[in-house]
Amino acid sequence: MTGTPMAFFQGEIMPLADAKIGLMTHAFNYGTAVFEGIRANWSAEHEQLYIFRSEDHIKRLRKSAHILEMELRYSDAEIVETIQNMVEQTGFREDLYIRPLVYKSQEVLGVRLHDVEDDFLIYCSPFGAYLDVDAGIRCCTSSWRRVDDTAIPARAKVTGIYVNSALAKTEAFHRGYDEAIMLSNDGHVSEGSGENIFMVLDGVMYTPPPQDNILVGITRATAIEMAEKELGIKTVERSIDRSELYIADEVFMTGTAAHCTPILEIDDRKIGDGEIGKVSGQIQKLYFDAMLGRLPQYDHWIEGVYSGSPVKA
Ligand code: PMP
Repeated sequence: MTGTPMAFFQGEIMPLADAKIGLMTHAFNYGTAVFEGIRANWSAEHEQLYIFRSEDHIKRLRKSAHILEMELRYSDAEIVETIQNMVEQTGFREDLYIRPLVYKSQEVLGVRLHDVEDDFLIYCSPFGAYLDVDAGIRCCTSSWRRVDDTAIPARAKVTGIYVNSALAKTEAFHRGYDEAIMLSNDGHVSEGSGENIFMVLDGVMYTPPPQDNILVGITRATAIEMAEKELGIKTVERSIDRSELYIADEVFMTGTAAHCTPILEIDDRKIGDGEIGKVSGQIQKLYFDAMLGRLPQYDHWIEGVYSGSPVKA
């Protein structure tokens, strides 16, 4: 690791090690923050760090903040530029994770959303592979149900909601699986602990709709768009039963951390022939090519951080 993890904190870019919050911070005590996860992907080929779809992440952050009665005081353009500057100042030449957060910053006791000051921060730090994207993974259906919109809205990326994800992830880990698949309260497939899910059946892709309590993923949207434009494959958004996954031709997960990860086994049943499926492999390749600046038609999704790069310096 050569470089310095950096933060944007209280209006200034500084080393992450210098940015600290107090013990009584509302968000720390009550989970009252919303956040994003954005990746900057290192291209050795272009000697460039490419930030992926930052504007789309900021748009989702603003919606999440609105649900928690917070307002993002910076414009989309200001945030995109701040991220760019902050990442450039790290000096890293490897994959990074960028975390913008709108949080109830006041040091005050009391469970509520109203009358609590909020603030905005960003930090970034090196982050490699999250799941085994090359080999594929084994999943189990979690005994924990995905939180319902009537409890904590999953379409908002709220820090506190990740207790739900952490319970499912750790249960899967203890049982010897790589990742959990959570069902909604009515028993339909919702999503992974930090990923959306797709199944491929007879040449069509299916994925649960937002009403099945998913976070509406940006990688999900990327996969849907690329499948249609590059492969002529349509995606149907509809509720999916747990047992439909068992008999699908292919299942894969998408997410900023997970990229596009093929699922080879669910609840001890092989999916398809137990190998990485054709469509999953194609989507994975297209996605990697787009995020690493190898597909000019998707250059509007990426921004190169270091000046002197061949693409969008
Ligand atoms: N669902 C959950 C619960 C997540 O945490 C994530 C990761 N942000 C996703 C889905 C995938 O969303 P995205 O593709 O925007 O990263």
